[in-house]
Formats: sequence, C-alpha cells, structure tokens
Amino acid sequence: MTRVVNPTSAVVVAEVPVTSVGEVDAAVDRAARAFETWRAVAPGDRARLLRRFAAVVDAHVEELAELEVRNCGHTIGNARWEAGNVRDVLDYYAGAPERLTGRQIPVPGGLDVTFHEPLGVVGVIVPWNFPMPIAAWGLAPALAAGNTVLLKPAELTPLTALRLAELGREAGLPDDVFTVLPGAGPVVGERFVTHPAVRKVCFTGSGEVGARIMAGCAAQVKRVTLELGGKSANLVFADADLEKAAATAPYAVFDNAGQDCCARSRVLVQRSVHDRFLELLEPAVKGFRVEDPALETAEMGPLISAGQRERVAGYVDGARVAFTGSCPEGPGYWYAPTVLLAGSTAERHWREEVFGPVVSVLPFDDEADAIRLANDTEYGLSGSIWTRDVGRALRVSRAVEAGNLSVNSHSSVRYWTPFGGMKRSGLGRELGPDALHAFTDVKNVFIATEE
Ligand code: NAD
Repeated sequence: MTRVVNPTSAVVVAEVPVTSVGEVDAAVDRAARAFETWRAVAPGDRARLLRRFAAVVDAHVEELAELEVRNCGHTIGNARWEAGNVRDVLDYYAGAPERLTGRQIPVPGGLDVTFHEPLGVVGVIVPWNFPMPIAAWGLAPALAAGNTVLLKPAELTPLTALRLAELGREAGLPDDVFTVLPGAGPVVGERFVTHPAVRKVCFTGSGEVGARIMAGCAAQVKRVTLELGGKSANLVFADADLEKAAATAPYAVFDNAGQDCCARSRVLVQRSVHDRFLELLEPAVKGFRVEDPALETAEMGPLISAGQRERVAGYVDGARVAFTGSCPEGPGYWYAPTVLLAGSTAERHWREEVFGPVVSVLPFDDEADAIRLANDTEYGLSGSIWTRDVGRALRVSRAVEAGNLSVNSHSSVRYWTPFGGMKRSGLGRELGPDALHAFTDVKNVFIATEE
C-alpha cells in the first residue's frame, strides 16, 4: 500500500495498493487480448464511446477537481481547468477515429494505399505535477487510434487516475481497454519498458528517468515519446508593454507552485528597462495569493511534498534574493514565491530546473544577446517573447530553440496544437492534429492490377 498525503495539511488521505510485476504482466496479457477486439470496433462506435467518456468526465469535473486539490494541493481553479482539459482532449480525439485516413499513392501496375495501424498495448507513465491532463494527452489519442492503454500514475498522486478509470468503465469502455496500475516507477513503469507486448511507452517526467526509459526501449526498438524537463525563458524587450509583462510574469512561473515543466523560470530583461521591470514585478509577486488551494481566490497552493520543498530551498540558499511573496505557516509544504537575481549564467538556480516557485532574473543587451542567453541551456520546452515589434517577435521565435513559444502571452498548452520539447526536453509531440500518428504505424499495401 502507498499512503497518499494531502500536501496542504500533511495528513494521509488515502491508501492505495501497489501493483506487482506479476500483476503488471497479467494486465498486459488482458490488454493485449482486449486490443484484438478494440481495434476492430467500427470507427464511429469508437468515437461514440470516447465522446461518452468525455461526457461522463464532464459530469464529474467538480468531483475530480476536489480530489486533485486534496491529493496535489492544486488551486481549485486550476484543478477545474485540468479536469475540463481531460474532457476536452477526449472530445477532440473522439473526432479522430472517423478521420484516420491513409493515402492513395500513384504507382505503376496497381493501386497503392496506406493504413495507420494501431500499435497494440501502450504504456503511459505520468508524473505528479499534472496528473489529469498528462494522463489524458496519452490515453485519448492512443485509444482513438485503436490501441489499448495501461497507465501508471505517479506514486504521490494516483487518485484522479484511478477515478478516471472508473469513469471510463461507466461510459462503457470495454473491459481492459483502459487500465490504471498504481505503483512504483522502477516496478510498474520499468515493466512497461521491458515487457515485449507493450509496444509503446509514453513517458512524462524527469530527464534522468526518461533517458533510462529510452535506453530500455531501444533494446526492443520500442516506440517512445518523452516529455521531460524545462528551463524556459521569458524574454522582455524594452519596447514591450512592460506593465503587462511584469503583471503576468508571476503567473508564468508560480502557477502550480512552479511545478510546471513549462515554467518561465528564467526572466531575461533588456538592460535599459531591467530596474523598471523589477519595480513593476515586486507588487505583482507580493500580491500573489498563496493560500488554502480550496479557496476560490487561491492563486497558488503548497508544494507536493516535504522533499520537494527541501529541494527548492536548496536552490535559494546562498542566492541573491530580490524579493519574495508570502505564504501561510502551518503543517503543509508551503514555499513563498521568490525572485532571485542571477549574477551570471553559471549559477545553479539559473541553469537547473528548480520545479518550485522560484524565478531568476538576468539583464541582456540586445536581440542577439537575448537569443544567445535563451539558448544557453540543455532544455528547449517553451518560452515567451514580449515585444511590440512584429519583425522581432518572428525573428526571435525562429531563433529560440524551444518547442512551444508564445508572443505577448504565456500560453503553452492548447489541446488543438502540438506540444513537446526540443533538445533534452523531449522527443516527439503530444496533442494537436498529428498526435494520433505517434500511436500508429504506417502500413503500405500495393495491389497489382495487371493481368
Ligand atoms: P520522475 O521521472 O521521477 O517520475 C515520473 C514518472 O516515472 C512517475 O510515474 C514515476 O513513478 C515513473 N518512474 C520512476 N522511475 C521509473 C523507472 N525506472 N522506469 C519507469 N518509470 C519510472 O519525475 P517527477 O519528479 O514525477 O516529475 C517531474 C519531472 O517531470 C520534471 O522534470 C518535469 O519537468 C517533468 N515534466 C515534463 C512535462 C512535459 O510535458 N515536458 C510535463 C510534466 C512534468
């Protein structure tokens, strides 16, 4: 059994059984058998089942959101968005089975057609920072394409995934089409990698575990998608709407207590407006509402665990603190939003993913300097560019090595558009119109027409 703790109160709220290797193997066998019938379900019927799943999730948004507040300390506002995102992603990919068309390619001597064949059993491994959306981004397109899914939630945050599996059954998904297997990463997750009947692993988590999973998958030439860490830049040019850039910067990094792979945790500000930007940023950070995440007014809750809080504090020790916000005292894993001044790009808090409510600020001189500094990282997940110059916005967007950029906005995730990282932030893309292809293999068939 794993004890599930509410990070706001540090009280145990549930005990969840862990899955053994033998139980994973049995689940893989059942999912492999279910695949044979699921792949044969008519596209319109598969679409209808996914739409029904979305509708059942919609009817339980509030319940799922409250569960996530309890398990993760997410603000109720964010948790509602996350449950709504599961519904939307299921709805979006419900449109896919009936549109999963191949091509007819002109060739001499016959007819050539392509099919997008499902892979089989897909293993989805989810981290603790966004349990609901990340589960949906894997399971919805995988099911739509005709695969069956085994999903392993993070040890700390299994509750909403287990509830989603129940809601899937309530919606009428056939047995063993979507199964949630809570348990340890090195046991359940690792078995997804080593079991030959699991044909793809869809992993979101740390770079260290991701690289290990990729190496394990390589041994079987198993398909793999990796969504890993980030150290994204927020570039503020002197010609930007400085008030708006400063007012929004805290949300781009302190949302979800900074436990966000897309957090804009490096703010690069043009030197001529650097001091003014900090003047504007200070009241925005001090006013950031860190409080009981169940309150409608909460903008940030606690960190996920005592260990995570210790890790985050380790980055602030000895660093130059510009100013901080505030947070409640008490039993939960609270940490106040913190703004650090980076003396150089060598500082640890500037280079490494903190995964907490800590942001580092550094000045830059000109456009070339901004691009150089933004790209001076092993990561490449997301980023923001604040400028009123359209030409510059486009030039910088093309030059920054990151999978998801936004101009005069901090948006990263929209289910209509592809999401994923460059460099060490990942491999492959999720969401958007093409995600289905990551859960299929192309088959080419030539039919001779000559007598
Ligand atoms: P983690 O790598 O420790 O764990 C992620 C998942 O992998 C968990 O379910 C864990 O149980 C499992 N796991 C652990 N060891 C395993 C093994 N040997 N084999 C198979 N599975 C194993 O990461 P975390 O601390 O839970 O999550 C935080 C990290 O995730 C951060 O680096 C963050 O940037 C990243 N992240 C990336 C994205 C993205 O989309 N790029 C999104 C969210 C989080």
